[in-house]
Amino acid sequence: MTNVHELNYLKEKIEDLKKEGVYRKLPILEGGNEAEIILNGEKVINLSSNNYLGFANHPRLKKAAIEAVEKYGAGAGAVRTIVGNMSIHEELEEILTRFKREEAAFIYQSGFNCNAGTIQAITEKGDLIISDELNHASIIDGVRLSKADKKIFKHSDIDDLERVLKENRDKYRNALIITDGVFSMDGDIAKLPEIVDLAEKYEAMTYVDDAHGSGVLGESGRGTVDHFGLHGRVDFSIGTLSKAIGVVGGYVAGSKTMYEWLNHRARPVLFSTTMPPAAAGAIIEALKMLMESTEYTDRLWDNAKYFKEKLGTLGFDTGHSETPITPVIIGEEAKTMEFSQKLLENGVFVSAIVFPTVPRGTGRVRCMVTAGHTKEQLDRAVDTFKKVGEEMRIL
Ligand SMILES: *Cc1c(COP(=O)(O)O)cnc(C)c1O
Repeated sequence: MTNVHELNYLKEKIEDLKKEGVYRKLPILEGGNEAEIILNGEKVINLSSNNYLGFANHPRLKKAAIEAVEKYGAGAGAVRTIVGNMSIHEELEEILTRFKREEAAFIYQSGFNCNAGTIQAITEKGDLIISDELNHASIIDGVRLSKADKKIFKHSDIDDLERVLKENRDKYRNALIITDGVFSMDGDIAKLPEIVDLAEKYEAMTYVDDAHGSGVLGESGRGTVDHFGLHGRVDFSIGTLSKAIGVVGGYVAGSKTMYEWLNHRARPVLFSTTMPPAAAGAIIEALKMLMESTEYTDRLWDNAKYFKEKLGTLGFDTGHSETPITPVIIGEEAKTMEFSQKLLENGVFVSAIVFPTVPRGTGRVRCMVTAGHTKEQLDRAVDTFKKVGEEMRIL
């Protein structure tokens, strides 16, 4: 008899991963997340982080985190509904509300938690959720937790969205259209003005997950809604505090009514301890920095444009990104993995993204340029792309 504690069914699946060539070890970063990092003991240029503004290891954020620890301690000590709701959390929501130019903002421990908690709280049986086919995994999971019915529309296809609305809207009480603001694999922006127009035509609500738009698009990084001037017309505006903002956490910005309801019914807030004070303190500082000046977002866009242009001139296929996300499309899966590996051996860390994360035959390395990169670092990265590209006969 086999021993149940050996978890043989998992061992078999792990063997399958190895056979498929997708088993991996996590890279280990020694020190802070910077433009250049020590990875597995080697110094490399980092083109893989979501630390768009270079805030993750910024002295002002670190100082604010330390001050919050001194005043409030290491942990919140309870869920918000009991006694974990500190004045620093209230302060964070207040400044987020102003930054997002909405009536209210409600924080979660992560962007993932925000989708897992919000979607199920704002929908119920008899409602319909309509979701873009390329929406993030946390939206997919969030939708699964809802008792509403679900339909998918083709990626950024407004005609297909209208077809779904036309065929189904009458059968449901409420309808909620969900889309990423910026799609992280290709760097394309949702067609939000068209989506919002359709939503209003069919009396549907809109929900935009702006994880890759927050701190990137709009005035000083206020996000996709601000970028398109759609304040007041998107009901639920989700952001993460873990990417451009450089810390950890998520939020939904919108109306006071939304805030009141989530405050009573969002399960990650009722059943999970709120974010630590250090995180709240650092985020408040980050938002102050963005509201003081556009220098960080300006530098991000300037660097991204510089890097994209140089790669394009060399002849790489950088896809149709409209944001600092810069995919370099290689195609075949194994070749893409090899390209990423060779870049790393030559001092540039940029992760390979292949099927099933993206369609088969569209393997790519996804470069994340940040405000923290110097032109010299970007030049060195471009030279490495050229060298490896020529060696592998991609160029
Ligand atoms: C990264 C991401 C999240 C998760 O955010 P975390 O704060 O890292 O949990 C949610 N939605 C989208 C679209 C993302 O890209």
